[in-house]
Amino acid sequence: MQGCLFCGIAEGTVPAEIVWSDDEFVAFRDIDPQAPVHVLVIPRHHAPDLAALSATDAAQAGRLLAAVAAVAHGEGLDGGGYRTVLNTGVDGGQTVSHVHAHVLGGRQMMWPPG
Ligand code: AMP
Ligand code: ZN
Repeated sequence: MQGCLFCGIAEGTVPAEIVWSDDEFVAFRDIDPQAPVHVLVIPRHHAPDLAALSATDAAQAGRLLAAVAAVAHGEGLDGGGYRTVLNTGVDGGQTVSHVHAHVLGGRQMMWPPG
């Protein structure tokens, strides 16, 4: 989508440190990491948030979670585990309106989040 930051990363017009990709998804390092491993996984095709993606392509929403697991495996997180976060809307703390899953690992995560 025109003007979307993460569409730009998926298309290669915005620089990012891409760690994994396939035909459908791209994974890249968060610019402001909150853990030793902090990767964002996005569908190449624009959807604003999880609610919209689930409504238009629930199967792709499911495959997004499989992509998360592939990324976590690639980052060496299978042993220690990891946290997966999908922020939706204002109360969810979403700041970029292109659906993305955070993959956080490499340290003990706290619960509940702030
Ligand atoms: P959220 O608050 O869930 O919408 O998460 C958006 C995330 O995108 C934040 O963790 C930001 O640090 C990250 N971010 C913003 N711009 C970039 C960028 N150009 N490259 C990589 N990560 C980014
Ligand atoms: Zn987009």
